[in-house]
Amino acid sequence: MRLVLLGPPGAGKGTQAKRIEERYSAVQLSTGDMLRAAVAAKTPVGLKAQPIMEGGGLVPDEIVVGIIAERLEEPDAAQGFILDGFPRTVGQAKALDAMLSEKGIALDAVLELTVNEDELVKRMETRVAETRAAGGTVRADDNPDAFRKRLVAYREQTAPLSDYYRGTGLLKTVDGMRSIDEVSTAVNAALDG
Ligand code: ADP
Repeated sequence: MRLVLLGPPGAGKGTQAKRIEERYSAVQLSTGDMLRAAVAAKTPVGLKAQPIMEGGGLVPDEIVVGIIAERLEEPDAAQGFILDGFPRTVGQAKALDAMLSEKGIALDAVLELTVNEDELVKRMETRVAETRAAGGTVRADDNPDAFRKRLVAYREQTAPLSDYYRGTGLLKTVDGMRSIDEVSTAVNAALDG
């Protein structure tokens, strides 16, 4: 299974990616997780990405495209992958197309989780409260200001990807506002169907 997951911040991409990973033996590749690891390790990429991420903006295409190109070379990605948080711009989508066609492979599907934006802010606040209660570290960009900017970045730069992939016939849409299990059932139906 070679899959792209689309959906705004807080839509539940990460949660569903974990479930798809188990069911379809494909590895979850989250650019957000990779960038946060680079920030924590203070690599040159991490140092450049940190202020952008904290402000809720998008890291430049060439950085994330480079990270994904390297990651797709790892042996585990040959079994299949779930791209979570990439591509996020039409430029990234075109770079991905080029990368895959060079490898002689193609995406099986693009799955979009649709949500109600008002609900997303509540979900983010709940995630922050739960993380705090569990004694965990809250993401630097999980605050109302940065979250709003992430939503704007999604609307302006990532939402056009629905049309991009609808045009290729790969797009499948699932309502992401239901319970995790209900969304998961709908995701499986969409991917199996
Ligand atoms: P979310 O889906 O909740 O916004 P992510 O973990 O996917 O969270 O991403 C966190 C941040 O990492 C983004 O706001 C952005 O700054 C950066 N980022 C992740 N993936 C990309 C990407 N493909 N292109 C540009 N920036 C990215």
